[in-house]
Amino acid sequence: MKTAVQMNAARMPVYLDHASTTPVDSRVAARMAEVLNSETEFGNPASASHEYGDLAHSLVEQARRQVAAAVGAAAAEVVWTSGATEANNLGLFGVAQYYRERGRHIVTSRTEHKAVLDPCRELERRGWQVTYLVPDREGLLDPEQVAGSLRQDTTLVSVMHVNNEIGVVQNIGALGAICARHGAWLHVDAAQSLGKCPIDFAGLGVDLMSLSGHKVYGPKGVGALLVAQRRAGSRSAQVQLAPLLFGGGQERGLRAGTLATHQVVGMGLAFELASSISSTETVRIAQLQRRLWDGLASIGGVLRNGSASHSVPHLLNVSFEGVEGESLLAAIRPHLAVSTGSACNSALAEPSYVLRALGRGERLSESSLRFGLGRTTTECDIDTAVAVLSREVGRLREIAGAQPGKVPAAESGA
Ligand SMILES: *Cc1c(COP(=O)(O)O)cnc(C)c1O
Repeated sequence: MKTAVQMNAARMPVYLDHASTTPVDSRVAARMAEVLNSETEFGNPASASHEYGDLAHSLVEQARRQVAAAVGAAAAEVVWTSGATEANNLGLFGVAQYYRERGRHIVTSRTEHKAVLDPCRELERRGWQVTYLVPDREGLLDPEQVAGSLRQDTTLVSVMHVNNEIGVVQNIGALGAICARHGAWLHVDAAQSLGKCPIDFAGLGVDLMSLSGHKVYGPKGVGALLVAQRRAGSRSAQVQLAPLLFGGGQERGLRAGTLATHQVVGMGLAFELASSISSTETVRIAQLQRRLWDGLASIGGVLRNGSASHSVPHLLNVSFEGVEGESLLAAIRPHLAVSTGSACNSALAEPSYVLRALGRGERLSESSLRFGLGRTTTECDIDTAVAVLSREVGRLREIAGAQPGKVPAAESGA
């Protein structure tokens, strides 16, 4: 018998929004269900007084090793959280609070995820100063720009690895060296990285790194903050954090609360699977992205947002000249599941702040779509997307009486 989900799947639009979340790998779901159904694996991982606790603890520790191995970290550096949002909050508030007497200046960029920008705004309300660096038109930060922004009282730099709206990859290795030299801690939101590009926590000289389960074919509601235990390179000091939650002292006192064993196990397996993806899969995604871009470009009046050379192939962000973003999204909605900007901002009918930071005008920022390609994406999906967009963009332009290229030069921002 088919489940309701399977029956509906036939009528669902093509899913091209893997950057907002991914389906759970069936092997991960099966293993999680096993833990949930188990008569022996349900114990509290913090219960040290009996076998049930020990068994759950061993599952959590195995998952810790899996996550660590996937990103070049040590198991002891993994602090489980409810997701990358919590990991970002723990990293930012944790460092700010712990080092508040040393300095109250933080450096970040205008194109960060809201889960970094909103904590920064809150820290400003609490008396911290935040420098928001503006990337170049391609979305890239110049390491020298970061170096130039550091002050005596800078305690933390927070820059993401792979951008969730445009797929651009920042030069984290260069930032690691700069921060280490200056004595500022470096936090990196790497929620989008695993499975898309190489990621090496120890090698990058990063102090704190946020990870998420559900961007990597794992479950929602689980993530981790990596906290470097020893510093690669010149400085031997180790970053300290003030916790956000107080309770049972779990996770070395950094994150109180009973661990969700099945979630943690799911993330561990998802990370192990993602770290062993073949290079043929990466090539396949790159070919699909090329097919998508070629198809969209042939519509005319379509601009690509973000660097094409310093980016992952899993994301493609484009702006359509001469169409209104909201009308376009409504027109394609029955056929395509894509987004404008990040899922977290889709509720707000405002143009992407990421694209605005790249210098795109309001209209082009507002008429942008983000395509997130993933394991389930096929050539057929791409062809459907191109056909639907070609039809709907043409129709909307006709209605608006607009022609491609008619957007004022000041607005094109290209
Ligand atoms: C999805 C995402 C987050 C939020 O992660 P959650 O696990 O959903 O809290 C943070 N940063 C980036 C870059 C993301 O893509």
